[in-house]
Amino acid sequence: MAWRCSGSTNKELIENMWRHKLISDARVKEAFLKVDRRHYAPAQPYEDSPQYIGYQATISAPHMHAIALEHLISFMMPSDASPAPRALDIGSGSGYLTHVMAELVGPRGLVVGVEHINALRDKGEANMRKSAEGKQLLDTGKVKFVAADGRKGLDEPARKGEEELGTQWDAIHVGASASDVHDELIRQLKSPGCMFIPVEDEHDRDSQYVWRIEKDKDGNISRQRLFGVRYVPLTDAPKEEIF
Ligand code: SAH
Repeated sequence: MAWRCSGSTNKELIENMWRHKLISDARVKEAFLKVDRRHYAPAQPYEDSPQYIGYQATISAPHMHAIALEHLISFMMPSDASPAPRALDIGSGSGYLTHVMAELVGPRGLVVGVEHINALRDKGEANMRKSAEGKQLLDTGKVKFVAADGRKGLDEPARKGEEELGTQWDAIHVGASASDVHDELIRQLKSPGCMFIPVEDEHDRDSQYVWRIEKDKDGNISRQRLFGVRYVPLTDAPKEEIF
């Protein structure tokens, strides 16, 4: 049997992950502590494992979310250079990671979850409304869920009063596996900006690897292959409602 980190409460799960170094950045830990996973994962929310959420989708294991956030965090935290960070969560599914990301971007930040199944878009938002904190993030416009094909990214205007920020993203998280790194997503990354994206191996379509794609302040792009994973694929939206 595989070893799994777990707890009987959200706090216990996160503290155990911290103790076992599945979370190593204190800012990421704080953000996880603010979001109760039980609002997003239907069964055994405090186990470090992926779970089926309907519509052929799964909420990823918390340790995968932690790894993704630790790659993106320096692009998501407000700074003098980027006081109102914009983060995109493609394949937002349960809405859990979208919520945790919103705890990192600061008071002027924006996080948008993109989901191609309408019912899941709605579910992500409804899950977030279960907590007072989540509801407030939605009501203030700091978080939005949009139904769209995430392979094209999202041309989302800045929040009111932040128009000078433009429409590019400081951080892009992709929660499903892409057939390749879509040019449009790279174009939509800010300089500097960072994307965490699982991509199918071009020689072996059954294998996937996470790539970290970074744009520096001059627009130069670097690509780093991180590790092998198994995500559901980024696909066309199903023609009929499924569950
Ligand atoms: N981050 C989510 C992961 C959900 S699984 C979570 O942890 O809850 C991946 C999600 O990607 C599914 O919800 C699936 O419906 C969505 N998806 C697949 N193809 C997509 C596409 N082309 N555009 C947007 N979302 C897509």
